[in-house]
Amino acid sequence: MKEYWQKDLETMHRSDLEKLQTERLKKTIEQASNAPFYKKVFAENNLSADSITSLADLQRFPFTTKNDLREYYPFGLSAVPLKEVVRLHSSSGTTGNPTVVLHTQRDLDEWANQVARCMYMVGLRDTDVFQNTSGYGMFTGGLGFQYGAERLGAMTVPAAAGNSRRQIKFIMDFGTTALHILPSYATRLAEVFQELGIDVKKDTQLTTFCIGAEPHSEEQRKRIEQLLGVKAYNCFGMSEMNGPGVAFECKEQNGLHIWEDYVIVEILDPDTLQPMPDGEVGELVLTTINREAMPLIRYRTRDLTCFITEPCPCGRTHRKIARLKGRSDDMMIVKGVNIFPIQIEKILMNFKDLGMNYFITIDTIGNNDEMTVEVELSEDIQIDDYARLQSLSREITRQLKDEILLTPNVKLVEKGTLPQSEGKAVRVKDLRKLI
Ligand code: ADP
Ligand code: ZN
Repeated sequence: MKEYWQKDLETMHRSDLEKLQTERLKKTIEQASNAPFYKKVFAENNLSADSITSLADLQRFPFTTKNDLREYYPFGLSAVPLKEVVRLHSSSGTTGNPTVVLHTQRDLDEWANQVARCMYMVGLRDTDVFQNTSGYGMFTGGLGFQYGAERLGAMTVPAAAGNSRRQIKFIMDFGTTALHILPSYATRLAEVFQELGIDVKKDTQLTTFCIGAEPHSEEQRKRIEQLLGVKAYNCFGMSEMNGPGVAFECKEQNGLHIWEDYVIVEILDPDTLQPMPDGEVGELVLTTINREAMPLIRYRTRDLTCFITEPCPCGRTHRKIARLKGRSDDMMIVKGVNIFPIQIEKILMNFKDLGMNYFITIDTIGNNDEMTVEVELSEDIQIDDYARLQSLSREITRQLKDEILLTPNVKLVEKGTLPQSEGKAVRVKDLRKLI
């Protein structure tokens, strides 16, 4: 059996890891100065690879933002001649114009290594049958997992997104043991299994889900695990940092190890841009230290998380970040209160009478902001049992108010009535912005 436990790197002593990071950072700065964008930034700030003598020197470098990537679209951040670039990916453009990321062959090999390392960490082996339900094409979840799983040696099924019945046929026919799947799509797939009268626990070989690419709560993970009888591990990535494989839960399921031989991690206060005290939530800022074609220095991801400071019982020394809270752009400000969709999800998922699909609408009624939370009922509850529905809705409203500090309108709707996306779930509509 092929081993993919890179023990020397994954359990490296922190001081050795920091030494490695410093060396790689120096090399990265040198490499980045070939790119038109960084050439200009470094010249303006009088910086060069010589500015790096320790990790702390990174703080002297300015941040890179998504806007810089857009402004220098498509090749202004390329640090190699374009003939050395063998692949171009683009972000899915959830929050605006797309940006591109370039890879040399070495970059692709390293990325596959990162993903294989993550998969091995959650117990996947070359004996597994791994079905990837990500969109292929520009979206990095497709090819990223494909090459990682192949590197691990698993039989890899590039099923791609959507067509649930076809996915299920593959799962049954090929004896699929593991899926890479969006959490929102996992809940949809569970429903289709049910419609087809297939008992996932008895009739399939599924044991492991890699779930990610969108925010989801611990409660949603638990539901997926219970419904499908699998272990579901949180995987985090973004196209600017290659894609999947940046950070991944280990078997402890308590935070995601972020591979510090690939990135230098900072968590900063998004307003002051100063480091947050350990354990406090701030913006994740990442510097690639093992990439040729397109190094990124202090890239502001806009994703919010915190460090988990306790050492991990699994023995890996690379730090862990907490489940992602969402992006700073996901935050809704309603009646002056800051709310993340995931806070609402966390409450809803605790009600067994509720299904897993929900939708939040914010509107202006009179002069006031109003929030409406529509949520699908589970199949087991009768839609005409008014007394039960009323008390359920009252209890949901009460718990939501405790969590988000304002009272939303709660609407319980029949299963299958809310929109269901095949890509990343769209959970919020803010009609205020349309006025
Ligand atoms: P886009 O930025 O256009 O959505 P990407 O596919 O690069 O395109 O998406 C990356 C983003 O997806 C991350 O920055 C993060 O906000 C979100 N994301 C990815 N994985 C997770 C995860 N496990 N938990 C929460 N959010 C995630
Ligand atoms: Zn661990």
